[in-house]
Amino acid sequence: MTAPLIIGGGLAGAAAGIDLARSGHAPLLLERETGPHDKICGEFLSGEAVAALAGLGEDARSLGAVPITRVEINAGQRQAAAALPFPALSLSRRVLDEAMLERAATAGVEVQRGVNVRGLADGVAQTSAGDIAAPALLLATGKHDVRGLPRPDGPDEIGFKMYFRDPALSRRLASTVAVTFFDGGYAGLQPVEGGRLNLCLLVNGAHYRELGNWPALLARLITEPALAALGDAEPLLPRPLAISRVPYGHLAGPTTDGLWRLGDQAAVIPSFCGDGMAIALESGRLAATMLAQGASAADYSQALLTRTRRPVRLAMAALAVARHPLGRLAAMAGLSAIPGGLALLARLTRVADPHALAPA
Ligand SMILES: Cc1cc2nc3c(=O)[nH]c(=O)nc-3n(C[C@H](O)[C@H](O)[C@H](O)COP(=O)(O)OP(=O)(O)OC[C@H]3O[C@@H](n4cnc5c(N)ncnc54)[C@H](O)[C@@H]3O)c2cc1C
Repeated sequence: MTAPLIIGGGLAGAAAGIDLARSGHAPLLLERETGPHDKICGEFLSGEAVAALAGLGEDARSLGAVPITRVEINAGQRQAAAALPFPALSLSRRVLDEAMLERAATAGVEVQRGVNVRGLADGVAQTSAGDIAAPALLLATGKHDVRGLPRPDGPDEIGFKMYFRDPALSRRLASTVAVTFFDGGYAGLQPVEGGRLNLCLLVNGAHYRELGNWPALLARLITEPALAALGDAEPLLPRPLAISRVPYGHLAGPTTDGLWRLGDQAAVIPSFCGDGMAIALESGRLAATMLAQGASAADYSQALLTRTRRPVRLAMAALAVARHPLGRLAAMAGLSAIPGGLALLARLTRVADPHALAPA
């Protein structure tokens, strides 16, 4: 087998690269960004993600990740809180993705930075550095679609991310991921390394356009009791990162076009579940194992679909409830009334268990 080609150096691409190199099939990996960069993400690393990273030789704690042991769900004046049923961490993507790309290069992956893939046809990638042919093409461009290979448009929603500094709020939220549902969207707030807080949210597009801009959206958010303290917090980025029309619920497989789709290109779980990174890592690992074993891209897509379908669909059902004001009320009442209800929901929306994505 000549070198497979991985397009995109996020967690899915890096994971596939590391495992392919370990099995003696060191790939070429193209990443369009030239260096470390921020990514729109809540940066909640679930137990599955932490385990997958460990399997790839990466200890997120040694990179400065902070522990997350508790989840808080807020809707207006209501709050439900529970201990997480698995140990979780929080680490910026700027640090994590860079560390994984370095690890891939050390494992033997040829990592080329600053190369943009513009299109794919007949086993050839058209890139900003010229055409590259490969026996296997692994598509790991995450939130960004390559021309000619669109995923369905998501709903009219916009994602935002901003870092803040506020020592008092950081103390209150130590080891906690706080999810707040409000009319028109939801927000996750949690500590990350460096004494910062990551606010990552999704808001209905029409609602945002009515508000007009980010300062107005922030002013709206701090009317929520659980987010009020952000009014005094220091924003740390010149402007928020933003993304629109995330295709939540997208499941690619089974596919027959010979492409190995990884991470967000294969399955997009609603972000409040905090499991997108686990799916990215595990899909990369599964693809690498099956490719090295001589399996086809179609078999891989079917195997991945079998494992991701249930958690993605359950998370979509939970999202539908959370989007509706009455649904939110009922869900908050239910979560507060059933001991362990929140922990159960957190467990049900996981991708099986950390080892379940390994081929049978
Ligand atoms: C608002 C929001 C909050 C989220 N919060 C969480 C969370 O808290 N926890 C969690 O687990 N998941 C979360 N997710 C999901 C998570 O961010 C994704 O599932 C995960 O990043 C997918 O990894 P990936 O490797 O597939 O793609 P990405 O991380 O998007 O990486 C893709 C890489 O490909 C590169 N690339 C793109 N196009 C090209 C091209 N044409 N040529 C070359 N390179 C290219 C990009 O530069 C990038 O580095 C969130 C998502 C959103 C939208």
